[in-house]
Amino acid sequence: MPVSVVLFTSDLRLHDHPPLHAALTSSDEVVPLFVRDSGIDATGFVVPNRQAFLADCLTDLDAGLRRRGGRLVVRRGDVVEQVCAVVAEADADAVHMAAGVTRYAYRREERLRRALASRGCRLYVHDAVITAVAPGAVTPQASDHYAVFTPYFRRWTQERLRDVLAAPRVVRVPRRVASEAVPGRRSVSGVSRRLATGGEEEGRRRLAAWLRDGLADYPDRHDDLAGDATSRLSAHLHFGALSPVEVVGRARRAGGPGSEAFVRQLAWRDFHHQVAAARPDTATTDYRTRHDRWRSEESAADEIAAWKEGRTGYPVVDAAMRQLLAEGWMHNRGRLLAASFLTKTLYVDWRIGAHHFLQLLVDGDIVNNQLNWQWVAGTGTDTRPNRVLNPVTQAKRYDPEGEYVRRWVPELAGLAGRAVHEPWKLAPRARAAFDYPDPLVDLSDGLARFRRARGGG
Ligand code: FAD
Repeated sequence: MPVSVVLFTSDLRLHDHPPLHAALTSSDEVVPLFVRDSGIDATGFVVPNRQAFLADCLTDLDAGLRRRGGRLVVRRGDVVEQVCAVVAEADADAVHMAAGVTRYAYRREERLRRALASRGCRLYVHDAVITAVAPGAVTPQASDHYAVFTPYFRRWTQERLRDVLAAPRVVRVPRRVASEAVPGRRSVSGVSRRLATGGEEEGRRRLAAWLRDGLADYPDRHDDLAGDATSRLSAHLHFGALSPVEVVGRARRAGGPGSEAFVRQLAWRDFHHQVAAARPDTATTDYRTRHDRWRSEESAADEIAAWKEGRTGYPVVDAAMRQLLAEGWMHNRGRLLAASFLTKTLYVDWRIGAHHFLQLLVDGDIVNNQLNWQWVAGTGTDTRPNRVLNPVTQAKRYDPEGEYVRRWVPELAGLAGRAVHEPWKLAPRARAAFDYPDPLVDLSDGLARFRRARGGG
């Protein structure tokens, strides 16, 4: 009786899951396996917010499998050793998994391929599980990846997506394979107090609500900081509780300008994956060097600490940083402003900011986070690498009533309207009433330093 193992990684769902579908088609029994990989623990990537969201996803995946007569098998240790152990226990002849794009994923796949081959077991790696369009599926003529988003998007739009697969009705798991308990969210400490709930069921509920109630207003409202009118699907996509192929398909079918704008953002996700697949080194090194001599932890320690804590004296930057601490998530416009402030106004190394974001973001993603940081720092794929976002003019534009700032910086809650964006303009007596720091740096000084560093560009 053929048995297959399905190794779940960043694809924690039952709907539209090509590895699970293939395994069920070719085998009588399947072992749905998740390994709490000691190799990933060692990278420092496992942090409380993502660990808690992951626990929700695993609990929900197990529940979904149990409703279908199966269960999730959870193991802990080196991923290759654990997969081989499960293959032996289940007497499996095939392992199915999703293709990844990080250096870690490549190495894992290579090690698995070798270890399984020596046991006479085949490894099937499936594309378009973690992205809608597989990295490398669309390429320009003279390169292995697109370096600029717009031409990529043009080609990406023409690509036919694979059909969406239904969730299985029955999953039979061999009894002889042992599992440790599925970890629960309560076992995780240090979680942001307003962290979202994870899991496929929650992701699907949120997607349906978004398509029904949010999508149409997306073009007008996606930059409205206080309105919070984006989908908040990023963590569900990061953990693969939602299938990007299905999300793109359903958003397209919804139609209208909201659909177009939203699908374009999903294409950014694929764009970054195809850059990372071709250049996995961009997790730590510049995609395009600008010969920066960044300020570092040593030379800018106090400014970095103020930025992390949300006390730079620029209210919109501080609001964004405090949203990150409280929710483990930040509005995209906030991410742009906070990252521009650190890299361009303070001229601090983008890796320091990216690392801090990865410590907290529930959607924190080595691909999207690092490449968005590089985009903002001007070392990535932005065709205008020296643009600098002014946190005051941006705040007036994207938080015109100051509501976002008052929500996250309660010290300034007494200030009405736009005055909240420039508290330093108040008379000294009025200013003394607020326990809020002076600006860390004059914006024009920061701009001049950045321009000097970039050779006047
Ligand atoms: P929506 O506006 O509803 O967009 C829908 C989906 O499109 C998102 O869920 C996301 O999957 C994708 N998307 C949107 N914008 C981008 C983008 N610029 N790049 C890639 N995908 C995008 N996104 C992450 O998923 N993980 C990260 O670690 C991450 N770090 C970032 C760091 C910085 C400095 C910046 C500027 C952006 C970062 N982003 C990251 C991209 C973006 O900010 C988030 O995806 C978005 O804010 C998530 O909210 P949402 O789901 O409501 O987005």
